[in-house]
Amino acid sequence: MNYTARQLKLVSQLHKVGVDALLITHLPNIRYLCGFTGTAGVLLVSAHSSKPKLTFYTDGRYSRQAADQVQGAKVVIRRKSAFAEALDALKRAKFKSLGFESEHLFYSDYRILSNATRGKLRLKPTSGVVEDLRMIKDADEIERIKAAVLAGSGLFPNALEAIKVGVAENEIAGELEFQARRAGAEGMSFDTIVAAGLRSALPHGRASDQPIPADGFIILDYGVILAGYCSDMTRTIHVGRASRERRRMYDAIREAQLASIEAVRPGREAGEVDEAGRTLLKKAGYGEYFTHSTGHGVGIEVHEQPRLAKGQTRKLLPGMVITIEPGIYIPEEGGVRIEDMVLVTESGHEVLTPTTKDLIEV
Ligand code: ZN
Ligand code: ZN
Repeated sequence: MNYTARQLKLVSQLHKVGVDALLITHLPNIRYLCGFTGTAGVLLVSAHSSKPKLTFYTDGRYSRQAADQVQGAKVVIRRKSAFAEALDALKRAKFKSLGFESEHLFYSDYRILSNATRGKLRLKPTSGVVEDLRMIKDADEIERIKAAVLAGSGLFPNALEAIKVGVAENEIAGELEFQARRAGAEGMSFDTIVAAGLRSALPHGRASDQPIPADGFIILDYGVILAGYCSDMTRTIHVGRASRERRRMYDAIREAQLASIEAVRPGREAGEVDEAGRTLLKKAGYGEYFTHSTGHGVGIEVHEQPRLAKGQTRKLLPGMVITIEPGIYIPEEGGVRIEDMVLVTESGHEVLTPTTKDLIEV
């Protein structure tokens, strides 16, 4: 991982943000910038004549790990909490303005920070500074994401095998997660979704103790974390023979998903990708049942920028990795969703998820 390049990019952003230094409290951002994977730490980034100056604060539990992992930052370990240690350094700081991550700083910590630096530092809330850098994946990241996607889709046959009428959704999720661990995953990207029968009409139906019914859709939505990077995929299968109406639903979502994928290329606005699939669903009469956005970025976190939603004007750029996942959810009937991960390339896109989208009946 080229941490130096990331640190240089961040420092070049600081003046645009209008701060001399940035206090980073969001752990995935810290991991991205200096490699630390632990669960407590604060990173202070400032610039000395455009050379990045990074100091990473953590506590004694992580001294060994920080020494092994952290790159391009001075590591400071004391008995106090990482945050308190960073505060001491800020009181002595030579710079005048400090940005903080407004979405990732507890209000209580903000109060402490603001009291400690009053009259000395101008505090400025920032939003998405590191997240915007993380949106464009470098070659190492793309390689890891591709490996995670393949590991995830490799588990789909295991999930299919576990599906039997009367088996609880939880048991299917458990089998999938067990196999994921055996395949080397560090964990799941999020709580596995297994939503069968009427529960498939819930867009976020986490696996429950409900048994698989003899007839109906099952939405399987899951992902694995491999070498720090997430995968995310959804397939919908049908238990028993699908009626004509259900096939029509399934085909409509497949067409919509393909239309949105087709719209993915550099320069396109995120909202246009959403629009491409949504228009087809409206024409097919399912518009009102597509109740969420089309997709999201994926990387160190399973939900990252960009968001692919109605009206989003952010332009797609090569190196973005996004999901395309339209869905139809009809209450008291059932739901269908298909989700792939897609890489934005120089010339268009590359679908990363290899799993078939033909309707599987079990
Ligand atoms: Zn998903
Ligand atoms: Zn997703």
